[in-house]
Amino acid sequence: MKERLTPELKKSLAERLAFYRELGIYDLYRRPVTLLDKSELDQEMARIKNPSSTSAAPSSSALTILDQPEDRQAAMVAIREDLGDCTRCRLHKQGRKQIVFGVGNPHAEVMFVGEAPGADEDEQGIPFVGRAGQLLTNMIKAMGLKREDVYIANVIKCRPPGNRTPERDECDTCSPFLLRQIDVVRPKIIVALGAVAAKNLLQINDSMANLRSRTYDFRNTRLIVTYHPAYLLRTLLDKAKAWEDLLFAQAQMARLSAEASAAQS
Ligand code: URA
Repeated sequence: MKERLTPELKKSLAERLAFYRELGIYDLYRRPVTLLDKSELDQEMARIKNPSSTSAAPSSSALTILDQPEDRQAAMVAIREDLGDCTRCRLHKQGRKQIVFGVGNPHAEVMFVGEAPGADEDEQGIPFVGRAGQLLTNMIKAMGLKREDVYIANVIKCRPPGNRTPERDECDTCSPFLLRQIDVVRPKIIVALGAVAAKNLLQINDSMANLRSRTYDFRNTRLIVTYHPAYLLRTLLDKAKAWEDLLFAQAQMARLSAEASAAQS
């Protein structure tokens, strides 16, 4: 006899689907059903109800999912679950409304990494949706792409009070989750937006002038650095330089594709 969904299970499922939509995941596929015994079912329900954990390490169920390399959406969900309602640094009690995890295509070839959510992002739970976000969207379009094609995240996932620059320990606590997101997406190129993102990812301290116009090998991908869109809104003269950076990123992508085709023939 088929089991009916209890109201509690229906509510959990609805919440879970809303959570997937927040992550930009709309397509879900049914897996072959595995029947769990009562204790396994209880454990799974407990995990759904209380996904928070105290470390950035993936849970054992997340590891099982991460073992399947092509299941990137599930891997992303596992990272979000490990993050939980994060209280690992002081930002959780300094006025953040919600965690801004990251958004976009987990199969993206291009990934953009910013600094930290601002007020609009904190309100909506999505990175780069304010004025700087509109400029980033235009930068993405200038590369011949759509926002849905790329993946966008920040070094830290909670808004710092008054939009101050994130502290070192906040970045160190939060960035392991970003690194896991990068490892899932495996983009061809990462564009670090601004000095804070660049310095945190590359672990080097240098001026924007020195950081730009070159590529870095980073976690099996290439990384380039350009100006942060919020800075560009204030400093129109550097927009032309940012445009050069985007052309540079496009050229790198073309080169990678040519190298891949040559390797296949
Ligand atoms: N600035 C950032 O660095 N990230 C955002 O998400 C928004 C503004």
